[in-house]
Amino acid sequence: MAPPKKGDLNEEERELLEAIGKGNTAEATRLLGSKNVHVNCLDEHGMTPLMHAAYKGKVDVCKLLLRHGADVNCNEHEHGYTALMFAGLSGNKEITWMMLEAGAETDTVNSVGRTAAQMAAFVGQHDCVTVINNFFPRERLDYYTKPQGLDKEPKLLAKLAGPLHKVITTTNLHPVKIVLLVKENPLLAEVEAMQKCYRVLDLICEKCMKQRDMNEVLAVKMHYISCIFQKCILFLKEREDKLDGFIRSLLKGRDTDGFPVYQEKFIRECIRKFPYCEATLLQQLVRSIAPVEIGSDPTAFSILTQAITGQVGFVEAEFCTTCGEKGAAKRCSICKMVIYCDQNCQKMHWFTHKKACKKLKEVHEKQELEAAREKKQQERKQKKEAAQAAESALTSEEQVISEFGDNKEVELTCVGDKTEKTAPTKDTCATASQGDDVIEEKTQSADTVVEKAQESEE
Ligand SMILES: [Zn+2]
Ligand SMILES: [Zn+2]
Repeated sequence: MAPPKKGDLNEEERELLEAIGKGNTAEATRLLGSKNVHVNCLDEHGMTPLMHAAYKGKVDVCKLLLRHGADVNCNEHEHGYTALMFAGLSGNKEITWMMLEAGAETDTVNSVGRTAAQMAAFVGQHDCVTVINNFFPRERLDYYTKPQGLDKEPKLLAKLAGPLHKVITTTNLHPVKIVLLVKENPLLAEVEAMQKCYRVLDLICEKCMKQRDMNEVLAVKMHYISCIFQKCILFLKEREDKLDGFIRSLLKGRDTDGFPVYQEKFIRECIRKFPYCEATLLQQLVRSIAPVEIGSDPTAFSILTQAITGQVGFVEAEFCTTCGEKGAAKRCSICKMVIYCDQNCQKMHWFTHKKACKKLKEVHEKQELEAAREKKQQERKQKKEAAQAAESALTSEEQVISEFGDNKEVELTCVGDKTEKTAPTKDTCATASQGDDVIEEKTQSADTVVEKAQESEE
């Protein structure tokens, strides 16, 4: 069959696109069986059936098309979009992953120079960005399990490729989490195995930096994991409590507020030791971290996570205090200031948290009180301002009316807020006129939060 031409679709190929739009896998299967249907046919915009299916988030049809030999890297689209870009835009993590597994290039750019990850970030599909930025095909690791060039032995034992791949593809970069992943696998948690692994990680890092299409994100990630592995080796060699000792060091909080100083310093040191100082990502990281005093926000962990996973709006409150896992929801029942995945994580942290728990409880109570007080103050201030505004508006009523039209009541309360002559926004009007309601709602929601936390502890 001749290679497909843009917009040159026959009847059955049009039916295929229709079936894809409806997610009708049975119909798509039937049509793909026809010898008149080209799996990589192009519509008038240069979109393939796979691009359509990816964009519409049809998981099963994507699988089917790939099985029928759909070209994941077809680049005939009028604006240079690829199937991976459409997957990222759709926000479907599973399809994004599927395109990557099928060999989608991550560095291809569209007609305005954007990669799939950048496009997904642009439309706020951050989960897809994370998937793309952290993808590392197993074959790339398996390469090291075969002797290369003059080597007599492979750089990596085949049995280590699986466990190492699991660590490499983690999207949770918390050092404790990575040590836990190592500990999970007895094959990996040995000095010799870890030595091989960290050397392979360094090689991958080097490759990422030296290849034509440089991948700084992956390079920094490999280097960071390599640093953690090297520290693991030290603890395995020198400490009786081995990797548990490393975890304790990482978790140990300082006396004043329980802040894990060693962990912060360790992550900073890992970043500083990145061997390619000309890398843009490194300079960006250093610029973000350097001005932050140890113990203040943002932590090196959150800055690194943001840079590598592409997570924006990183809120520390959602993450396990021990291992950094997202979506942790169990609070310490005493202080309510720390969150864990489960009892295991809480137990691991208790040796150091017990020293700070009481103090944190006081901080928590103080914060609650202060928040309530601040709200009240704000409410008083707003009432006062509203009154003043009403007064001053009376003196220049004519002017106000000419500026803001007829709706006097609402406008009057707002004018005083604004010194510049801009139109009042809906928000300022609402808060100024219903201060009482706001306070009540706030206290209520604080109660429900506490209730929820207690529930989750039971
Ligand atoms: Zn945890
Ligand atoms: Zn506590």
